[in-house]
Amino acid sequence: MVFDLNIKQYFSPNCGPRKHGSPPDMIVLHYTAMENVMSAIERLCDPKFEVSAHYIISKEGKITQMVDESLRSWHAGKGTWGQVRDINSHSIGIELDYCPSINDELDFDYLQLQALEVLLFDILNRRPEIIAKNIIGHSDMSPGRKFDPGRRFPWQTFAKKGLGVWPHNIESKAPDWDIFKHAAKIFGYCPPNNDEDGWNAVLYAFRLRFLPDQEGELSMSDMGVIISLANNWPTHL
Ligand SMILES: [Zn+2]
Repeated sequence: MVFDLNIKQYFSPNCGPRKHGSPPDMIVLHYTAMENVMSAIERLCDPKFEVSAHYIISKEGKITQMVDESLRSWHAGKGTWGQVRDINSHSIGIELDYCPSINDELDFDYLQLQALEVLLFDILNRRPEIIAKNIIGHSDMSPGRKFDPGRRFPWQTFAKKGLGVWPHNIESKAPDWDIFKHAAKIFGYCPPNNDEDGWNAVLYAFRLRFLPDQEGELSMSDMGVIISLANNWPTHL
């Protein structure tokens, strides 16, 4: 592909060794929700804040690396995906310079998405341990606590290129919370608490990514999509 990654380096001290020593097998996408990319980089490199990411991509598509991929960057915080609890040890974190508008109408910039695409292909080429299913949003691993990369992120477009997954062969199914919970767990979701609020947070996170226009009670669409995801991409237990 003719696209010079031209990655700048701006190192953050907010990192450490990966626990268990194995190479990363997940990618977590974030948005910064900050005013501009420079203030985000400063924050992600300031020891006071104890946060970082491996990469940040500006609206113009400029990529800055802050933590070496071999190290454990502090981007994910508390959360779970499938069987993984220490997401930071398992993942590469990528921040997008993006601040959602109140009515959620702000699209991501084209150059930024293009740079993300090239960076993801570059990482996946180098790291066969990372499968498409394990490119997730911060909201997926931390329902109710995190909402990024938000409802405007074009998951379907990325999934078509093999950079993520998207449901197919969706069948209608009557709403049933027990079945929804079971399928959501098989796909990888984990509620912050195993109660009504916790599962509503999972439903919200799942919709942010797969059915961003869906609201209200658990629906036939929710059921069809979550069952397709569980059938096609079960977590290896
Ligand atoms: Zn985040």
